[in-house]
Amino acid sequence: MTTIKKITVAGSGVLGSQIAFQSALHGYDVTIYDINGEAIEKSKKLIDTFLPRYKSDLQISSEKLEEAYQKLQFSINLHDAVSDADLLIEAIPESIGIKKEFYRNLSKIAPEKTIFATNTSTLLPSLLMDETGRPEKFLALHFANEIWKHNTAEIMGTEKTDPEVFATLVEFAKSIGMIALPLKKEQPGYILNTLLVPLLSSGITLYAKGVADIETIDKTWMLGTGSPIGPFGILDVVGLGTVYHIFKTESERSGNEEKMKFVNVLKNQFIDAGKLGVSSGEGFYKY
Ligand code: NAD
Repeated sequence: MTTIKKITVAGSGVLGSQIAFQSALHGYDVTIYDINGEAIEKSKKLIDTFLPRYKSDLQISSEKLEEAYQKLQFSINLHDAVSDADLLIEAIPESIGIKKEFYRNLSKIAPEKTIFATNTSTLLPSLLMDETGRPEKFLALHFANEIWKHNTAEIMGTEKTDPEVFATLVEFAKSIGMIALPLKKEQPGYILNTLLVPLLSSGITLYAKGVADIETIDKTWMLGTGSPIGPFGILDVVGLGTVYHIFKTESERSGNEEKMKFVNVLKNQFIDAGKLGVSSGEGFYKY
């Protein structure tokens, strides 16, 4: 199995910054790569915002956090950033065009030893593998937002991923404090979203058809399954801006009139009123 010591995280946004810091906290040397200085400065600010969460949620000392911070390097030169990487984790925008172009460039300059992992939420890794130039060393490693708290790592290869590389990534995920969740084959939405999206969608349908109100739907799910929150509580956590974009696209594609009605309610009564869910203090519920 390959020994992973040096990591490069490409894309230093919401998830990339978290993945980089989490890896540094567990002793890895991490280089964060992004396209320009502005993005790097944003990343530094982002890291500053979630450091207090490491203290409050995990009781990690300031010294340990500072030590981890010192293990981070920042670069806007992909060639330098990847020159000695054992593993590159890609967390750049969720656009197939941007990702394909990134892997085409990367494949020309990364050392042969480097394993590539994509954090894509919605794309199958097989859609990108040809551009990597090394499909046997390429797979998906999917983290959740607030990685230190929601510490899942779904690991999904393609038919071409070398099983040794897959096993290496399972061990890597565990070594940075994740619960490794290996998938045996490709699945759009991995495991979590394959389970979650139909639940949320059914909750929305029940509401949009006027079958029951939001509180009743959530209460039914919570009492019936012992879950601490129901579908609308989950939608508040995901954020109603994201929910709006997902269901707008979905309702336009399917032509489902009830979902379209729901999307309009979401826009007029919630988003335009600044009610974006937990992050803004109010969504379907008050926080
Ligand atoms: P983001 O927009 O916050 O960050 C993307 C970063 O990539 C930005 O810093 C941007 O400057 C940089 N970037 C743009 N083009 C680039 C390029 N060619 N090379 C290098 N960097 C480039 O995005 P995000 O929310 O962190 O999402 C990144 C990936 O992680 C996506 O594939 C997304 O599906 C996945 N993901 C996101 C979440 C989430 O909750 N945000 C959760 C799981 C997975």
